[in-house]
Amino acid sequence: MSDLQINTKLPLRRNRPGSKAKDWCHWPEETSENMDSLYHIQQYIQQSIRRDSSDIDFILKAPDQQDEGVWKYEHLRQFCLELNDLTVLLQKECLPETCSQMTATEQWIFLCAAHKNPKECPAIDYTRHTLDGAASLLNSNKYFPSRISIKETSIAKLGSVCRRIYRIFSHAYYHHRPIYDEFEGRTHLCRRFTVFALRYGLIPKDNLIVPIHGVNQDITTIMHQQTSPIKAHSNQSLKNGDSPPSPTVAATQAESDA
Ligand SMILES: [Zn+2]
Ligand SMILES: [Zn+2]
Repeated sequence: MSDLQINTKLPLRRNRPGSKAKDWCHWPEETSENMDSLYHIQQYIQQSIRRDSSDIDFILKAPDQQDEGVWKYEHLRQFCLELNDLTVLLQKECLPETCSQMTATEQWIFLCAAHKNPKECPAIDYTRHTLDGAASLLNSNKYFPSRISIKETSIAKLGSVCRRIYRIFSHAYYHHRPIYDEFEGRTHLCRRFTVFALRYGLIPKDNLIVPIHGVNQDITTIMHQQTSPIKAHSNQSLKNGDSPPSPTVAATQAESDA
C-alpha cells in the first residue's frame, strides 16, 4: 500500500471530459472546514459564487479563523479569472480602431504599466496586458510562494492590482454599456468587486466610478464628476496613477510590481 490514501467517502469534485453543462460542478456543497484540498479557499469561494452569484455578503463573508491576507488574495485571483470572461465579450467590439486609449469617463487616460515605459495601449490591449500582469504577479513564486500564508509585503501589492483591473469594469461601463449590463446582470462581478475593494480599503471610494446601486456614489455624483471641467495635460504622469487631483491623464507607473 502506498502512502497515498484516498478518502472514498468524499465525492470526487471533477468535471470529466464530455460533462454536460447541467452536470458541470454538480457536486454537494461542503463547509469550508470539510474541504481538504490545498486550494480549499478557492474551492470555497467558487462554491459560494455558484450557489448564488448575487449574494455578495455571503460570498465575501470569510469563514471563522480565516487568514485575511489569504482571503483577499484568493478573491483577487477569482476576480481576475472572471474578468477574462468579460474580456472575451469585450473583444468583439472593443477594437484598437474604436478604443485607441484606455479611458473611462474621458477625463483620464490610463497608461499601461505592462511595459518598461508605461504607454497608451488601446483599451483591449490594456485589458489583456493588465490581466496577464496580474496573473503573473499573483502566481509569482517570489511574492506568493504559498496560498496558505502570505507575507505582509506581498499583501501590499494587491491594492495596485485592484486599481488596475478595476479600469476594465469602468471602460466596459462607460464605453460598452450593453456588454457590461448583460455580463453584470448575470455575474454581479462589478458589484462584488466594488464591495470587496471598499471593505478592504483597496481602492479609494472616489475612484470607484461605476455606480452600483446601494453601494457607492449615486448616479448624480457620478454625472457631476463627468461634467466637471476638463483640463488636458496629455503627457502628465501622476505618481502611482490613482487619484488625479484634477481631471487629467492618469498614468500607471512601471512599478516594480507591474
Ligand atoms: Zn473599448
Ligand atoms: Zn500594454
